[in-house]
Amino acid sequence: MTESLAGQTVEAARRALTARFKSNGIDSAELDARMLVGAVLGLDLTGMIAAARRLLTSDESIRLEDFARRRLAGEPVARILGLKEFWGLSLQLSAATLVPRPDTETVVELALEMLRAEPDPARRLRVVDIGTGSGAILLALLSELPDAEGIGTDISVAALQTASSNAAHLGFAPRATFVACNYAAALSGPFDLVVSNPPYIRSAEIAGLATEVRNHDPLQALDGGADGLDAYRVLIAQAARLLAQRGALVVEVGHGQSGDIERLMTAAGLKLQRPPKADLAGIRRAVAGRKMPP
Ligand code: GLN
Repeated sequence: MTESLAGQTVEAARRALTARFKSNGIDSAELDARMLVGAVLGLDLTGMIAAARRLLTSDESIRLEDFARRRLAGEPVARILGLKEFWGLSLQLSAATLVPRPDTETVVELALEMLRAEPDPARRLRVVDIGTGSGAILLALLSELPDAEGIGTDISVAALQTASSNAAHLGFAPRATFVACNYAAALSGPFDLVVSNPPYIRSAEIAGLATEVRNHDPLQALDGGADGLDAYRVLIAQAARLLAQRGALVVEVGHGQSGDIERLMTAAGLKLQRPPKADLAGIRRAVAGRKMPP
C-alpha cells in the first residue's frame, strides 16, 4: 500500500513519487517525479524549490496520483504531459507521433554540418523531412536556418496536424508546409537537404521493446520490416532523385545499421563524405550522403 499524496508538502510528494518510481524499476525516477509534480503545480524547478514546503491541494494530489498511476503503468512522461522538448523547442505530441528522442538531435547536428560544408546556394535553402511526425527535425532545422523553407511529409494526417500546430505555435508556419504522402512520393525537387527518422526496428523486435515505446509510440513509426531497412530502400532512392546537385541526405539509423545504410546510399549514387555521427551513447546514429555532379 503506497502512502497517499493528499496533505503532503510539495517536497514530500516529489520524494514519495521518486521512491515509487524507483521501486518499480524506472531509471529516470527522479526526473520523472520532478516533471510530473512541476506540471501539476505549473511550476519550473526554481518555482518548485520555492514552493517545497507548501501543502498540495486536494485537486493537485488527485491529478498527481493520476499522473503517477499512468507513469507506473508504463506511459512515458512526455505522453502524460503531451509535450517534449527537442533542440530547445517545446513540441506538442499526439498518439500519431513518436516522442522525439535526444538521439535524434544527432541528425540535426549532422545535417547542419553537411549544409555548412557547402557554399550557400543563390536561392533559398529547401529542406524536406520525410515522415516528420511531430515536426521535430524539420522545426529544429528551421530554427537554425532562418533563410530556409521546409516541407514535412507523413503518411499520417493526424501526425501532420500535430506538426503543423507545432510549426504555428513556434512561429515557423510561414516557412513550413506539410504534405500527406508515402515518404516523399508527392514531392518534386530540387531540395538542398533531405532528412528522415524513418521506422527502423525489425518487426520481430517490436514485441521486446520497452512498454513506454511498444504501447505508446505509433507502430507505423517504429516497424521497419523484416530486416528493419524497408523504409530506407524507398526513401534513399526517392531522396537521390529529389536532391539538388551537392544536396545532402541525412537519416537516423538504428544500432548496427549504419553500414547497411551507407551501402544503400552508395548504391543510389550518393557519396559518403563523412563518417556516421555517434549519439551521446556512442552509437552511430546519423548517416549522411551527398549528391555529386557526375
Ligand atoms: N528510436 C526509436 C527507438 O529505438 C525508434 C524510432 C524509429 O524506428 N525511427 O525506440
